This record gives sequence, structure tokens and C-alpha cells, in this order.
Amino acid sequence: MKSRTDVAIVGAGPYGLSLAAHLRARGVKYRIFGEPMRFWLNMPIGINLKSLAFATNIYVPKYGHSFPHWCRQHGLEDFEPCTMQSFSAYGLEMQKRFVPDVEEVLVTNVSLRPDGFELALSSGEHLHSRKVVVCTGLSGLAQIPDVLRELQSDRMRHTFDISDYSEFRNKTVAVIGAGSSAIEAGALVQEAGGSSEVFVRGQEAIFHGRTPRERPLWERIKNPMTVLGAGRNSWILQQLPLIVYRLPRERRTRFVKRHFGPASPWWIKDRVLGKVPIHVRHEVVEAGNAGQRVQLKLRDGEGSLRNVEVDFVIAGTGYDANVTRLKFLTPEILDRIDCIEGAPTLSADFESSVPGLHFTGPLSFMCFGPLFRFVTGAEVTSRRLARHLS
Ligand SMILES: Cc1cc2nc3c(=O)[nH]c(=O)nc-3n(C[C@H](O)[C@H](O)[C@H](O)COP(=O)(O)OP(=O)(O)OC[C@H]3O[C@@H](n4cnc5c(N)ncnc54)[C@H](O)[C@@H]3O)c2cc1C
Repeated sequence: MKSRTDVAIVGAGPYGLSLAAHLRARGVKYRIFGEPMRFWLNMPIGINLKSLAFATNIYVPKYGHSFPHWCRQHGLEDFEPCTMQSFSAYGLEMQKRFVPDVEEVLVTNVSLRPDGFELALSSGEHLHSRKVVVCTGLSGLAQIPDVLRELQSDRMRHTFDISDYSEFRNKTVAVIGAGSSAIEAGALVQEAGGSSEVFVRGQEAIFHGRTPRERPLWERIKNPMTVLGAGRNSWILQQLPLIVYRLPRERRTRFVKRHFGPASPWWIKDRVLGKVPIHVRHEVVEAGNAGQRVQLKLRDGEGSLRNVEVDFVIAGTGYDANVTRLKFLTPEILDRIDCIEGAPTLSADFESSVPGLHFTGPLSFMCFGPLFRFVTGAEVTSRRLARHLS
């Protein structure tokens, strides 16, 4: 006989763990699948959180377990910059304490049944669940431009798939992209003893400024500190987390797409400027294997073409929150999910047009806005969803 549960949580990162901790406290019958904190454990050494510590927590329904608390207990920086390794260690500690029942298996298939869903697990088990919550973060959403797709995987990978840059020692590497992943990859290749150049399609590579921890009163009033950094708009988003959701659909889509373009954190600037060549207004128009190397044809802002030959190409080309990229959902389910630009349309309780199927994190960002692209969105998500699923 198949085992049954009320709620199946797919993914054990900050969103999945926060939700499980809330469901557990409410006595809801759930099961949670995935390797805890895998995304954060895979981060290369030398990379810090982009968010402030107080905005990066596993949100458990008990006071005194925030990330800054944990950092202070361990004698670590509790504001910024905080390392990815410290956040992973904190997350694993919270998991062991508040969600000890995580099952370290993958969900390989989710299909519709008359009274819910059937899940297939990598362990071979099949189970029935009344509700499913997808908390898989950016897994499966890495975007590689068509022009790079033909390159062999031993010569091109997305930043999502690289955690150890020592393989680039003595290699020449072209990094494509303008966001923080691309700029960080440029620095990490150089620091590992390789030679990197970054090619940016847009006009510039933008770096965020550092927000001082102590600021004069007038500055704190003008630009209050929030989970998204200092700023009045961010303050509104923090105080009214569902405000974006309430906007008319077209306005909301425009706002979400405009907010937070590609930009790198302040702490990477000194590791890049004057060390890693950044070529702006350069677009890759052709890419091909050239023996053991890769040949790229690039068009610059004036329309001139230029060939570059390198050992390896790193695609720092971002993510596409398109639900059809989730391979564990059957075509029957995908057909029934209403979408906005590929991302599922959700109710205020994160439920998709398939009753009982919920999405969180990056897959809820088109509906709920910038807060939900980051770990900080897990606070509102886990509270609302736990109430809805109870
Ligand atoms: C380079 C980079 C740096 C970032 N830095 C920050 C930052 O500093 N602060 C911040 O707030 N946000 C940051 N983000 C954004 C962050 O990734 C998202 O906020 C993320 O959504 C947060 O956690 P999550 O729980 O949704 O996903 P994750 O933490 O990625 O967890 C998803 C989990 O699902 C599991 N999983 C995937 N598929 C399956 C499956 N089929 N079955 C079972 N389990 C599965 C994975 O193994 C993983 O453990 C960063 C993103 C990138 C790309």
C-alpha cells in the first residue's frame, strides 16, 4: 500500500525548511524531501551572502534562532559580509533542531490523482499527498543562451554548476554575463590561478554601494534599513509584503521585471576592478568548439566583430523562472498551470491553478515581487502557507 501524507514539500532549502518548521509546530502531517541547504553548500569558497544577515534566516516559529543570533554565538560577523559557509552551517543546525525528519531523496515525478498527487522518489518509493509545495529554489532554472548551447559540457558550464574554481588554474576563461554570478566568477577564476575576461552585453557592470551599519538619524529616516537594503521603496515592500501582489497584473509584471537588474555586491569590487578585464557592450553572436578550445565571435557596441579563443566559457547568464523547466512535473500538470511569462500565476496563498499545488521562492517572484526572490521572502511565505495548509 502507498504511504500517504497531507503535505509534501519538495526541497529543503530556506523556504522548504521554514515551511516544515511551521507545519510541524501546527501539528500538520507533512513529509519534506531534498538534501538540506544543498544550494548554499555548493557555493564556492570566497563568496559572501548578498543579503544582510538579519534578512537571511531559517524562519522557525520560535524566538532566538535568527542567523545574526547564531553568528554572535559563534563569534562571526552578524551584519555583512557573512560567508555562504556560515549560512549553510547555520541552516543545517536549524534543520537538525527544527526539521529533523528531512528525507534526503529527490522527488523524480509528481502526477495528478483524483484526490491529490502521486510522488515518485529516487529511493523507489511512491507516495500519495493531498497537497504539494514546490520549494526547489533556482534548481533547474539556470538559463544558457541559445548561442552557447552547442558547446560541449567540458568547455562550458553555467555558474550554478560550478562550486570549485581550482579546475580553472592555468586556463583562459571567458565569462558571459553582467550579474553578480558572472562578476564573481571572473574574480574566482583569477584567484584560482586562471585568466578571465568578462563580456557584458549591456552598457556597464553595476556594483552596489556598501550601506554603513551606523548612520546619522536623518539618513536613517530618509532611507530606512530594510531586508532589501536601505531605501524608502524597499521599506514599503517590507512593511506591506503583499502590496506587489495586489497591483493590477500588467503593472505588477512591469514592476517586477524592472526591479533589481543585474548588479554585484560591493565586496567583490576590489577583487575585480583593475584585475579582471570587463568588456561592456559585447554580445556573443557565435560560439563553436575549436579543437580542445572554444572560439567565440563577439559583436561590440559599434557593430565590429572580434574572435576570442579560450579554454573554457562560463555562462553567468542568470535564471529563468519558467515552470516548464521543472522536469519532475508531468506534462498533464504543466498544461494546467496558468502562467505569467512562464512563472505560475498564484493565489495569495501561493496556490497555482492546479488545486493543491503551491510554488515558493523564485517561482513566486513574478506574482509577489522582489522580497520573494530572496531568502527573506520565506518568512511571509512560511507563515501564510502554514496557515493555509493547516
Ligand atoms: C549565486 C547566488 C547567490 C545568492 N545569494 C543570495 C543571498 O545572499 N541572499 C538571498 O536571500 N538570496 C540569494 N540568492 C537567491 C536564492 O537562491 C533564493 O533566494 C532561493 O530561492 C532561496 O532558497 P530556496 O529554499 O527557495 O532554494 P534553495 O536554497 O536553492 O533550496 C532548494 C532545495 O531544493 C532541493 N531540490 C531541488 N530539486 C529537488 C527535487 N526534485 N527533489 C527534492 N529536492 C530538490 C535542492 O537540493 C535544494 O536543497 C542567491 C542566488 C544565487 C544564484
